[in-house]
Formats: sequence, structure tokens, C-alpha cells
Amino acid sequence: MQSDSGNTVSVWMGTSKMPTFAALEEDLSCDVCIVGAGIVGLTAAYHLVRAGADVVILDDGPVCGGETSRTTAHLSCVLDDRFQWLEHVHGEQRVRESTASHMAAINRIESIVREEGIACEFERVPGYLFLGKRESPQFLDRELEAAKRAGLTDARRLERAPGLPWDSGPCLEFPMQAQFHPLKYLASVTRAIVAGGGRIFTGTHVDSIEGKPRRPQVKTRNKSVVTASSVIVATNSPISDYVETHVKMAAYRTFVIGAHIPKNSVPRALVWDTDDPYIYVRTTPLDDANDVLIVGGEDHKTGQKDDAPDRFRRLEEWTRRRYPMVQSVEYRWSGQVMEPADGFAMIGPNPDGAENVYLATADSGQGMTHGTIAGILLADLVRGKENPWAELYDPGRKSLGAIKDMLRENLNVAVQYTDWITPGESSFEDIPLGEGRLVRMGAHKVAAYRDDRGLLHLRDATCTHLRCIVDWNSAEKSWDCPCHGSRFSPEGRVLNGPALADLAPVSADVADRAGRRVHDEDVKERSRPQSQEDRYDR
Ligand SMILES: Cc1cc2nc3c(=O)[nH]c(=O)nc-3n(C[C@H](O)[C@H](O)[C@H](O)COP(=O)(O)OP(=O)(O)OC[C@H]3O[C@@H](n4cnc5c(N)ncnc54)[C@H](O)[C@@H]3O)c2cc1C
Repeated sequence: MQSDSGNTVSVWMGTSKMPTFAALEEDLSCDVCIVGAGIVGLTAAYHLVRAGADVVILDDGPVCGGETSRTTAHLSCVLDDRFQWLEHVHGEQRVRESTASHMAAINRIESIVREEGIACEFERVPGYLFLGKRESPQFLDRELEAAKRAGLTDARRLERAPGLPWDSGPCLEFPMQAQFHPLKYLASVTRAIVAGGGRIFTGTHVDSIEGKPRRPQVKTRNKSVVTASSVIVATNSPISDYVETHVKMAAYRTFVIGAHIPKNSVPRALVWDTDDPYIYVRTTPLDDANDVLIVGGEDHKTGQKDDAPDRFRRLEEWTRRRYPMVQSVEYRWSGQVMEPADGFAMIGPNPDGAENVYLATADSGQGMTHGTIAGILLADLVRGKENPWAELYDPGRKSLGAIKDMLRENLNVAVQYTDWITPGESSFEDIPLGEGRLVRMGAHKVAAYRDDRGLLHLRDATCTHLRCIVDWNSAEKSWDCPCHGSRFSPEGRVLNGPALADLAPVSADVADRAGRRVHDEDVKERSRPQSQEDRYDR
């Protein structure tokens, strides 16, 4: 399938086909307008349609073209921030509620799979948490006690994870976790939404959500307006809130490889270590002869490194040392996760107080379950129905502001502004075909991309959210903002928020200094080519 969120292809994209839809070209009115057709938007729509609501979904890419197509789809209630830390931040009771909500999400996915008869390889599997390089065996004992207090009374410590072709050393076992093929699942959920009367429009970029009137209005780039009683912003990184949620989470890029292995040569299980960043492993069936072993990790803050080949190589070395049955690495992909300050997603009313506007974000490496929780919770909130998870996930909760780690994250953001005064890294001549580079031009930094035909696309490198300098991501061919995770296509088109606008065109002066093969649309103050040599197809 096609993806709007990057250049690489995940195992899911390579093995499924999503339903396609047309763009919105008229004004509409509905009960609920959902912006974003990933797991959050589709799960909310599914529950709303079943409750009889008139639902419109808008997405600027294809259905599931965002991070949902890049996931590894472990379905787990074992949050990657670890129970001990979560208990320290939230207290025992809250962690028990959160753990129960993730279990409920897995149960809900299982019941949807059953009711809709979805063939998506859903299966219950155990999860194993083993020691990384930093922690001692006592860490596992403490974690086990905290997990039991969180309600996981059947968790236990083992001397090694059973059936693995390598010695994991001591580990914790968590029964009744699960895994599935996320796109096969969501393709069927999408069809159920449409069968229930939901209307879906893709290729439809939302420019603004005007939440102040009682019936908010969603305005698209091609000037259509959807007026709704409620709006759910399911864009992963919210476009309805400019600052508040974004300073309480941090965007990270994480990397995955998928290797062919002989069928059933590795036990079906979820495997994680205790490091930060951590390794995450599972398998998925491919055909009669093969499974795919999926190994992820090597995270870095978005826009702060561009060394994907090294990260893929380290993942492959880690995997080959432990899984001698690996035949060939067939997939290498990456994606972005939004890490919340206090470990729980933000799901609920838009924090700026806009009436009838709701969002879901900060779903961390648990976006499949957090996304399902969001779909259930938001469908209840827009219908004025009480939900026991509302307080736990409220984007306005106090615990989000009180975390030392977040101070560090925001300090890290502040440091990114020094990119304004550090030198640009390249000159226009150095840029290879199909690559982007930052180039300094006087007081400006230019995001310069040379397409496969040699033409330069020039954009002001200033992120249109809060004016950090974007950086090139050569694996996914995008400009990524190191401050709050906004992303732009090589030509500067906004791919995901919080930025709403494209990177700005450069001045004619900058374009002239860049040379002759410059794409004219990237240049402001120049309405037509200045000379024959400036033309695109010279
Ligand atoms: C490599 C990787 C591994 C992961 N592994 C796991 C895992 O094992 N288990 C787990 O639970 N979670 C995992 N996650 C997290 C999980 O995949 C995500 O959190 C989840 O898929 C996010 O879903 P979403 O619906 O919020 O966002 P998305 O799927 O990104 O959907 C948002 C949609 O909004 C659209 N959009 C954005 N802006 C606009 C706009 N202005 N106008 C119109 N449309 C717009 C986008 O096109 C997109 O389709 C992983 C993530 C990654 C990247």
C-alpha cells in the first residue's frame, strides 16, 4: 500500500491492501468529524457508527498511511516505561487502572476480530521482559512486584525465556498479551465503518479547526468545510493545539528490520529488554514456508540524527547473533512515536477549552492499545457518556507537568534553537540526486532537496510551528523538526503536525544564488521564470 509518512516500506504495507477513497470536494455537515484515519480515528469511527452517529473521516494521505502502517503491533499492557517508574509517578491505583485499560483494549480488539470475522492473524502470546545492559537482576524482582500490584498477578520470573534460540537470562513472563496484522485488521474495520454509513475522504488536508462555535468547523486546504457537533483530532501529533500538549511530550524516531525465517522456527512471543532505547521483537506469519522476525529499537529524538544505515546495521547484528535461522533481511523501516511526560497517553477534550473538540496523542510505543483506548473513550466523550478512563487520560492532568524528564526534554528543545546560529552543513553543489541538505544563505537556512531529475527544491528551513530549524531524514526522505516532531515532504509539504503550513518558499535572491535548476514554485516574489534556464523542464 501507499504511505504518506515516509519512504521505507513496512512488512504490513507489503502484505495488505487498504480500501481507497476520493478527496472531499464539497461542504458537509455531520455529527462527528474525525481528522486522521489511523488506528485512533478508525477505532473511534467504528464505535460511533455502531452507536448510530453520522461520521465523516478526513485524512490527507491514504487510510492508515501514517504511523499505524509503521508499527510493530505488539498488543501489550506492559508499558515500556516500566511499572516501578509509573507507580512512582502516578501511584498504585492509577497504574492498576491504566494496566486494566490496556487489557480491555486487547480484549476489545479480540472481540471486534471475532464479531467482524477478521482474518488478521490475531493471537494471544506471552510477553518476556529480559535484562538489558544496564539493569541488575534485582530490577526484575522489583518490576515483578510492581507488576503484581498493577494487577498482573499471573506474571512470573523465569531463569530464561522458553523456546528462544538464545539465552535471554532471567526474565519476567506476562501471559495473555497479543499480536496481529494491524493493516488487515484496520482494512476490515474501515469496511465496517463504511457499511455502517460512515463517510471517508482521503487526500484531504485539514488546515484549521475552528472550535469556538458550538458546532466546530473543519476547514480543508481545498476550501471545503465540514461542520460537526464534535470534532476528534486523531492526527497522532495534534493540529488543534499549538503548544500545550506538545511541551508535555517528545517525538522520537524508532527503527525496525524484518527478516525471513523458516516457519515456526521462533516461538510466537513478544520480547523486550529493559534498556532505553529498548529492543522489541515478535514474529508474523508470511506464507506456508516462512515467518518474518520483526526486531525494533535504536530510537533517537526526531530530527537530531541522520544515521539510519548504522541503526539498521546494529539491529541486524543484534538479530543475527541471536537468531541463526535468519535467511535474509527483507524490510527496513522507521517511524515516529510521541513519548508522553508521565507515560500515559493524552486523550480527551482539547486543552485550549475549544468546545466539542477532542484529541488523542502521546501514545508512545503503546499506540495500538492506547489508540484503541482512545477510540473507545472519545466515542463515549462525544456522546456525553461517562467513561472510567476519562480522568486517567485527561490531557489537562497535573502529572504531565511535574516530571523531571520533561524538563530535560524541553531543555533539549531549547538547544535546538542554536541551529539558527550554527553553520549550514552543505552547499547546493554537494547535494546528490534524491537527497536533501541544509544550506546557509546569509541569515537564512534553506532546506534544499535535489530531486531525481536534478532539479533543486528550495524551502525556508524554519519549521512553521515554533520556528526551529528542520533537518533532513535520509531514510524516510522528509524534513523533520527536532523540537516537536512536525514533518515535511522533500518539497516542503507538511506531512504531520503540530505544523499546519508548508515550509515557506525562498526569496528570488536565494534561488538565484542557488543556481539555475531551481523549481519555480519554491520561489516567492517571482511569478514566472526569469529566464529560459530557470524553467523546470529546461
Ligand atoms: C516503528 C514503530 C513501532 C511501533 N510499535 C508499536 C507496538 O509494537 N505496539 C503499539 O501498541 N504501538 C506501537 N507503535 C505506536 C503506534 O504504531 C502508533 O502510536 C499508532 O499507530 C498511532 O496511531 P494514530 O492513529 O494516532 O496515528 P497515525 O496512524 O499516524 O494516523 C494519523 C493520521 O492523521 C493524518 N493527518 C495528520 N495531519 C493531518 C491533517 N492536517 N489533515 C488531514 N489528515 C492528517 C495522517 O495522514 C495519518 O493518517 C509503534 C510505532 C512505530 C513508529
